[in-house]
Amino acid sequence: MDFSTFCPHCKTYQEYSLPSFSNRNCKKCERDLLPQASDEFKENFGFNQCPHCGAEHLYRQKDFNRKTGIALLAMGIVFSYWTYGLSLVAVTILDWCLYRKVGEVGCCYLCQSQFRNDSQVSLIPVFDLELHDYYQNLKK
Ligand SMILES: [Zn+2]
Ligand SMILES: [Zn+2]
Repeated sequence: MDFSTFCPHCKTYQEYSLPSFSNRNCKKCERDLLPQASDEFKENFGFNQCPHCGAEHLYRQKDFNRKTGIALLAMGIVFSYWTYGLSLVAVTILDWCLYRKVGEVGCCYLCQSQFRNDSQVSLIPVFDLELHDYYQNLKK
């Protein structure tokens, strides 16, 4: 499983690939980045809570890079002048193909850690706006 997160102490972005569970410490300040890993997570990456911050809810979404989508759309708009709008149709189709091809990513509502490339990710529930709002309020 791959995971990425921001270290809560020194705020650096970190990415790791774990074949099986082992403790992962921040590359910079060396603090434990998975202090809340549950037994389930240690055994088979079961997501009953976020292994980083301990929040009980995670969500699943398409691992789609928004910047790529926006860049594509911008290109489509620029070229639509010469192509009479055909480029817009082309980028829409390309966008849709990219979207279908990408995998899924599990995210924590609270700390925004991301988890990829493990069958357990597909068991995480899809995004829930109410839970999202709930965690947004917690952060304030
Ligand atoms: Zn750190
Ligand atoms: Zn978390």
